[in-house]
Amino acid sequence: MGAAEDCLFCKIVAGEIPAQIVDSDEHTVAFMDINPATRGHALVVPRQHSADLMEISDTDLERTMVAARRLARRMEEVLEPDGYNVLNSCRPAAWQTVFHFHVHVVPRYDDDPLKLPWVPRSGDEREIAAIAERLRTTDG
Ligand code: AMP
Ligand code: ZN
Repeated sequence: MGAAEDCLFCKIVAGEIPAQIVDSDEHTVAFMDINPATRGHALVVPRQHSADLMEISDTDLERTMVAARRLARRMEEVLEPDGYNVLNSCRPAAWQTVFHFHVHVVPRYDDDPLKLPWVPRSGDEREIAAIAERLRTTDG
């Protein structure tokens, strides 16, 4: 079902490569990340291959996000974290390394070592407004 050759996550979905699967439904599979950023870090993928956020269908995107929240709710009971990051990286410039769309569900703990990867600083108001003007749709 829509498997791409040589795609690691398609192979996990197909059961050809072992993974610690923790949740699955008709359209999605969730499994533990082998390099966990925190205790319980997991990934949720659509069964159908798509490379990234730009390529995935609206329906698979919705299904994957709903499955990510289902997993976070399960973590809430089992791991009792203090919070969550739900993350997607799109393309190498944004740190994507596996080109089958996936959402990271990273349970967060008050004492974990993760840091926000940018330093919040006030931006140039005029530049922000100019970019907003370019991004704004006229038919919205
Ligand atoms: P990204 O860098 O956003 O593309 O995320 C890819 C994630 O997949 C990384 O966090 C890796 O640790 C994880 N990963 C790579 N290979 C495997 C694997 N065989 N099983 C589980 N997770 C994996
Ligand atoms: Zn794939």
